Amino acid sequence: MPAKPLQFYLDAIEQADLPGVEALRVAWLGRNGTLTDALRQLASLEPEHRRQVGQELNRLKQAVEQHLAQRQQQLAADALRLRLASEAVDLSLPGEPVAVGHPHPLALIQDRLVSIFVAMGFAVAVGPEVEDDWHNFEALNFPHDHPARDMQDSFSLAAGGWLLRTHTSPVQIRAMQLSAPRPLRIIAPGRVYRRDDDATHATSFHQIEALVIDQAVSMAHLKATVATFARTLFGQDVPLRFRPSYFPFTEPSAELDVGCLFCQQAGCALCKMSGWLEVLGSGMVHPKVLTAGGYDPEQVSGFAFGVGIERLAMLYYQIPDVRLLLEGDLRFLSQF
Ligand SMILES: [Zn+2]
Repeated sequence: MPAKPLQFYLDAIEQADLPGVEALRVAWLGRNGTLTDALRQLASLEPEHRRQVGQELNRLKQAVEQHLAQRQQQLAADALRLRLASEAVDLSLPGEPVAVGHPHPLALIQDRLVSIFVAMGFAVAVGPEVEDDWHNFEALNFPHDHPARDMQDSFSLAAGGWLLRTHTSPVQIRAMQLSAPRPLRIIAPGRVYRRDDDATHATSFHQIEALVIDQAVSMAHLKATVATFARTLFGQDVPLRFRPSYFPFTEPSAELDVGCLFCQQAGCALCKMSGWLEVLGSGMVHPKVLTAGGYDPEQVSGFAFGVGIERLAMLYYQIPDVRLLLEGDLRFLSQF
C-alpha cells in the first residue's frame, strides 16, 4: 500500500488520546504496519526509482515517529497535571512502615555478658585476631607438644609465623603487659579461629574471657565471681557445680557446670543424660603466665575464666542446633 502524505499522519496523531497514539504506532510502524510494509515493498521497485522513493519513505517514517513520541509525552504530562490537581494529598496520614533490623542473637548475648561483668567492675579489653605464637601459646604456658599447637588445629598464616588466634587468652597477656604491676580486672570478648571440621564445631566462633590480678586473689574470689555471673544470666535458683579440670594457663583449674536448662536435670540428649551442662573453664592464673605478663607471682595472684558465646547463646535461648546461629536465616533471626 503506498504511503500517504505527512499531513494525513499528523492530523491523525493530533486527534489521538494516549491509547490511540499507541494504536497508531502499531498500525503504521509495527511489524505489519503500513509504513513498515511500504518499506518492505521497495525491493520490488526499479533500481532508479528505489533510491528516491526509499529516501522519501524514510524521512516520512522518521517524522511520524517523532510526532508520535511528542504527542505521547504531551498527553502523559497533561494526565499527570490533571490527576495532581484533582487529588488532595493528606500529609498527616501515617507512612508505610520501614523494616528495621536488630542485633543478631550472638551480639545480644555478648552485650548481655559484657553488661553483667561491667556491673561487677570489669573493664573491656580487645586484642588482634592475627597473633604471634608467643602471645597465643608460649606466654600462656602451652607445652610444645600440646595438640592446640598442631597445624591441624590452628590456621597459620604463610608469612612470619603469624596465626589466627585460637582463643581470646592472648588478650590476657597483652592486658597484663600494659598494666603490670598494677591490679587488673578485664573481660575480653572476641572472635577466635580453629581448624575444626566436624559437625558440632565451626571454624570461627566467639569467646569471652575474664582476668583478675591483685594481691591475695583466691579460688574463693573465682567461685563467687563465676557463680554471680551464672546466677545473673540463668536465674538465682540454677544449680551450679565446680569440677576439677586441666588448662595449661591455670593451676588449679576447674569447670563450672549448670543444672540442665532443657530437662531440669531429669536427663536428656543435650546434657547426655547427666543433668549437667558445661558452661565455662576457669582457674588460678599459672605463675609462668603471670611472669610472662610482667607480674611477680610472689607478690600477686589472679584468676581467669572463659566461655564460648555460641554455647551460652544456645543455653540461654534454648537453641538446639548451633548452625541456626550461623546460617543467617531471617525466619529464625527475627524471633529475637
Ligand atoms: Zn538435660
